[in-house]
Amino acid sequence: MNLSIIGTGYVGLITGACFAKLGHTITCVDINPEKVRKINNGVSPIYEEGLESLLLTYKDKISATIDYQTALMNTDITFICVGTPSMKNGTIDLSYVKEATKQIATILKKKNSWHLVVVKSTVLPGTTHNIVLPLLEQYSGKKVGTDIGLAMNPEFLKEGVAIQDFLEPDRIVIGFNDERSRVAVRDLYKNFSCPIIETSLSAAEMIKYASNAFLATKISFINEIGNLCKKLGIDTYDVATGMGLDKRIGRPFLDSGIGWGGSCFPKDVDALIAWAKEIKEHARIIESAKAVNTDQPLRLVEILKKHIPKLKGKTIGVLGLAFKPNTDDIRDSKAIPIIKELLRNGAHIKAYDPQAMDNFKTLYPQIQYCSSASEVLTADAILITTKWKEFTTLDYQGKIVIDGRRLEQAKNAKIYEGVCW
Ligand code: NAD
Repeated sequence: MNLSIIGTGYVGLITGACFAKLGHTITCVDINPEKVRKINNGVSPIYEEGLESLLLTYKDKISATIDYQTALMNTDITFICVGTPSMKNGTIDLSYVKEATKQIATILKKKNSWHLVVVKSTVLPGTTHNIVLPLLEQYSGKKVGTDIGLAMNPEFLKEGVAIQDFLEPDRIVIGFNDERSRVAVRDLYKNFSCPIIETSLSAAEMIKYASNAFLATKISFINEIGNLCKKLGIDTYDVATGMGLDKRIGRPFLDSGIGWGGSCFPKDVDALIAWAKEIKEHARIIESAKAVNTDQPLRLVEILKKHIPKLKGKTIGVLGLAFKPNTDDIRDSKAIPIIKELLRNGAHIKAYDPQAMDNFKTLYPQIQYCSSASEVLTADAILITTKWKEFTTLDYQGKIVIDGRRLEQAKNAKIYEGVCW
């Protein structure tokens, strides 16, 4: 099949590269010409393990452009993968989805054959039917359901292991507007062995939100248990292991620490809370999960102050700036509120991250960035904020380490404390 992918961020580029690996021909579209240039040179504009090698291996099957016309005219199916960031009031900013939809529809007006549009961006229930569908019809002058197909196929990949998640998902969800669209999306995934759920457009949208809200809540739950355990001298990780062996609970997402971040959980949780208000509901559990998560990273600084009560003038090392290991993504990284709090207390910061320093410099140009992890260890105390593998090989002996991510190797420090263990 010939597929076009609108938006070459984490989701769009992984989707394109993986579908190319599966034998399809891909045209990526982005408004950012620099990203387009890099992709056409086989260079990934983002860091994601294995992505650049996929782009190089399938160079003949992937191209990128800023031109919707080239992309739409030469493909049969278009995935919308543009961002849906949070607005100030928590609701999602649909302007990118709307703009992409208008551009797609304007080209489809000139196209004679049937074309399928698949929304992959995370959008609130009702968006595909109530916003994307009317825009497609308005700007193309055609009928969705007959001339244009429409489906919603949420993405569940995790940054850091995104390629594996895309190629071996736990499930595939296909929300469809009409039978022809259902069959076409199903056909794309015909060689996948996981369960495939076929449902309404809005149920597909809700499955994505409910899944992310549940996972975020699961982490906040174990962090709350962790905070109790720490006071009682109980090892939270033993508790998590004991809980996780119960098949109804499961061990994943029970690693307590400084909380969840990234481009998805915070904005999806905010969107669900705001949307609940809009429809006169109160998402109490999800609001509480968010509140726990807001406080959790600051506990790391509170613990640090037990050992160094006056941070003014002290040098504090921060190991890890990405919101999790194996990515350069710093969106809602827990290092952000921690560094903000350290600066507020007058500390000098020495930070290191294997991939995310360039991104972090755009937020905090004033802190000191180290050229290696070991350089951070010269600080008065060290905070572990991201669990990068290379931090496991450092020698923490003689140091003060306050750990937000449970790095076993750091336990040989002179003073070691975990955030909630
Ligand atoms: P991103 O911000 O990394 O990438 C979005 C891309 O879209 C950017 O490259 C931007 O330049 C491009 N873009 C914006 N407007 C455009 C337009 N009109 N035409 C063409 N390109 C345009 O976003 P992302 O992290 O890939 O997320 C995309 C969507 O997928 C979001 O809705 C997100 O919630 C969802 N999602 C993300 C993840 C994740 O881990 N990042 C996982 C699952 C779902």
